[in-house]
This record gives sequence, C-alpha cells and structure tokens, in this order.
Amino acid sequence: MTLRHNGIGMTSARTRLRMIERLRDQGIRDEAVLAAMYEVPRHLFVDEALASRAYDDVSLPINYEQTISQPYIVARMIEVLRASSTRPIRRVLEVGTGCGYQAAVLAHVFHEVYSMERIAPLYERARKNLAELKINNVVVHHADGSAGLSQGAPFDGIILAAAAPVMSAALREQLAIGGRMVLPMGRQEQWLYLVEREARGFCESRLETVKFVPLLMGKA
Ligand code: SAH
Repeated sequence: MTLRHNGIGMTSARTRLRMIERLRDQGIRDEAVLAAMYEVPRHLFVDEALASRAYDDVSLPINYEQTISQPYIVARMIEVLRASSTRPIRRVLEVGTGCGYQAAVLAHVFHEVYSMERIAPLYERARKNLAELKINNVVVHHADGSAGLSQGAPFDGIILAAAAPVMSAALREQLAIGGRMVLPMGRQEQWLYLVEREARGFCESRLETVKFVPLLMGKA
C-alpha cells in the first residue's frame, strides 16, 4: 500500500493508520480498499464537535436522523463488491449518499460513481464535501434511489447504505451480467447480502448481521 502524507497532519496520519490497522484486525484484506480508507479524511464529513471520534469504529450522527456508516462496514461492503473474479468493476451506484463519505471512498476505488440521496440538505452537503476534496468522478442525484437510476444502468456494482425490508427487483435488474450488489436487508434483524447477476439469473448469499438506517420512499 502506498501512503501519501501530503496535506495530512502527523496526528491525523497516526489516527488514520490506527484505523487501517484495526480494519486489518477485523479481516479487511483488500489493499486498494485500505488505501482508499486511509486517503479519505473522515473527520471532514462529520460535525466539528465529533471530529475527534471520526476514526473510531462507530457510526456517528449527521442530522436528519441519519448516520455516517462505521468504517468497518464501509470497507467490508466495498471489499465484497470488488471481490468479483469474473469482470472488472468500473461503474458503481450507491443508494444513500448521506454526507458523501462512502461515495468518496468509492471514488478512490472505482472509475465512475453515481450516488442517490433522498434528503435535500444531505445531498447539498455531500456535493459540497466531495467538491472540496476535488473528487470529480461522483455524480450525486437528489432522488429516491429505491428504484435505482435507470439512466445510468447497467451498473457493475450497486451498494446500498440503507436497509430495505425486501429485495428490490428494480435494483437487481440494473446490474450488468457479472455485476454485484451489496445491501443490508431486513426489518428488526438485518443481514448483509451479496447478489450476483449471472447469465441466467441471480445468486444471493447472506453474509453477516448489520445495523443500518431504513431505506425510505420519496424525496425529502
Ligand atoms: N453512505 C453514507 C451513509 C448514509 S446513511 C455514509 O457514507 O456514511 C444512509 C442514507 O440513505 C441517509 O442519508 C438516508 O437519507 C438515505 N436514504 C434512505 N432511503 C433512501 C432512498 N430511498 N433513496 C436515497 N437515499 C435514501
């Protein structure tokens, strides 16, 4: 892994390295994901009052009853998405931009990223955060992402940052053949699922228990 220290204060660099070591201990092995997690300044995505906890392995509030996902789950989902042996992943859709943190990590790993957020002020904040970091390969949409983004389909990868009660057929249909979707699903008890699109259908695997905010309908 190459680590760039440009523009990163030494305290922040040490804190970030500790986060990377913790992610390794938690089983994250993909060096491209670890490098991206190191590069993206998570403290810039949370309120200043929470910045000192930005590299802890916790989800943190970002207002509007939403949270920035825990570093482990961001790394794990992207690692699962990238683990495809059949085809390279270039174009990815994220549903649930929030403050744009995971979108920034995705932008370091994939060529083309589309992200959808239903809450207007979060959409604005994500765009501002991404612009300030000069990340220009993410297109953010203020829209309900539960039915995906048909004008961008097919996607090599789809990642959901909010839990749906059941599998969305519309989202599944927007996967390219060989494409993969990683999503939390369930009501009380939620599990992380991997859906792989094959030439003749879909293959679903259940990975681990998770805790996400719910996927909601409509724009707000
Ligand atoms: N990706 C974020 C996680 C944000 S939390 C991160 O990097 O931390 C999940 C987000 O999903 C919330 O901002 C919520 O408003 C959004 N969301 C929930 N249902 C949605 C829907 N149907 N379409 C788009 N966004 C949705």
